[in-house]
Amino acid sequence: MTPTTWTSPISSSENLSDRLESVRAGITDAAASAGRSAESITTVVITKFQPASLIIDLAHLGVRDFGENRHQEAQAKAAELADLGLTWHFVGQVQGKKARAVRTYASVIHSVDRTSLVNALSSPALTSSAPSSSAAPEVSGVDCFIQVNLTDDPARGGVAPAGLEPLVDDVLSAPGLRLLGLMAVAPLGEEPRRAFARVRALHEGLRRMAPGATALSMGMSGDYRDAILEGATHLRIGTAITGNRPDHG
Ligand SMILES: *Cc1c(COP(=O)(O)O)cnc(C)c1O
Repeated sequence: MTPTTWTSPISSSENLSDRLESVRAGITDAAASAGRSAESITTVVITKFQPASLIIDLAHLGVRDFGENRHQEAQAKAAELADLGLTWHFVGQVQGKKARAVRTYASVIHSVDRTSLVNALSSPALTSSAPSSSAAPEVSGVDCFIQVNLTDDPARGGVAPAGLEPLVDDVLSAPGLRLLGLMAVAPLGEEPRRAFARVRALHEGLRRMAPGATALSMGMSGDYRDAILEGATHLRIGTAITGNRPDHG
């Protein structure tokens, strides 16, 4: 006799939508515990090492914000998927000589951490007095976060908390940069909630200098609930949504 039911192989895109739904539910939950609205939180899905096809699947599931951490990969994906109208976030360390190229596709740079990078990203066109025969030069600004390093290891990227104030001044006076707020990665070996509370305190100091810089980019797959409890407005979530990365865990 024939079986009355059969189980179809679960396609990877069904898994993808399940994972996305479960993270969305986790965000709604944590936001409710924090007395915040989930709508005030932007989820940037980090797709480093993932194929463009996965980004297309996520776009069909309603995701608009994507993040990458390596320039060449990000540039190629942004070009290939240009007609989807996605918003690209750059979350990795930016080499000075790549800064202007990153600006051409990234709407938001989460990892501004030094004055030389601020200078490389800013728009001389806004202050240039050189005569130009062309029409308006391309001077659309870029949104940025200052990344704070919560470890003692400078290789981790981010400015040390002690260097934050002068860097804020530099960003605020740089043409073409809009300061959204602070970004941080919780260090290994510290409770994420405590680390995020430190960032929150630094952010309060920042807002006295820059009242408009209200955003906080923090929270990844393993710690986004803690980040929401400490005021995160931008989560950067990779594997909890995408599944494991094809290489480089
Ligand atoms: C990879 C990455 C993430 C996402 O990490 P998951 O653990 O996969 O969620 C977030 N932020 C930065 C800066 C990253 O490089």
